[in-house]
Amino acid sequence: MNIKEKIRIIEDFPKEGISFKDITTLTDDKDVFKYTIKEIAEDLRDKNIDIIVGPEARGFIIGAPVAYELGAGFVPVRKPGKLPYDTLKIEYQLEYGTDALEIHKDAIKKGQRVAVIDDLLATGGTIQSVAKLVEQLGGEIVSFNFIIELTELKGKEKLSPYRVHSLVKYD
Ligand code: 5GP
Repeated sequence: MNIKEKIRIIEDFPKEGISFKDITTLTDDKDVFKYTIKEIAEDLRDKNIDIIVGPEARGFIIGAPVAYELGAGFVPVRKPGKLPYDTLKIEYQLEYGTDALEIHKDAIKKGQRVAVIDDLLATGGTIQSVAKLVEQLGGEIVSFNFIIELTELKGKEKLSPYRVHSLVKYD
């Protein structure tokens, strides 16, 4: 099955010069969506994953069904003010300004095996912040999994020496 064929490219979104990879044309196709989730789950199947962690919002769309398929738990990472219980927060640098993410303090137990999942790896800034939250809670990161990797932005290098797996790559 050709996943790449189902990803819609929108030029100059959300701003000029960005070639946005739209995964909604992949997730609205029942066969390709199922195939994509199964491919990620198969990659993680023998790794004894306890918890899948996914950042909002597209990390939920992909992460939760992978967790279900593996029989693992799912832990959301959200923008500030969205999670109701005590949270751990991390601020990170964007091209202009800063952003922040939060996780529930009790969501991951020390030593639990975690896979971090998002739709797309670009610079790696978002996922690196997610990883820091997981590790501050004592989780052991086993793998980072994505549908798409934008290789030119070298996010994989930023995540080194962790394991990074993606289904399709763009330059
Ligand atoms: P990074 O922090 O690696 O630079 O950016 C990755 C984050 O931005 C991910 O959460 C991802 O959902 C979002 N993102 C950046 N560019 C794109 C894109 O072209 N398509 C999609 N679907 N998400 C993107």
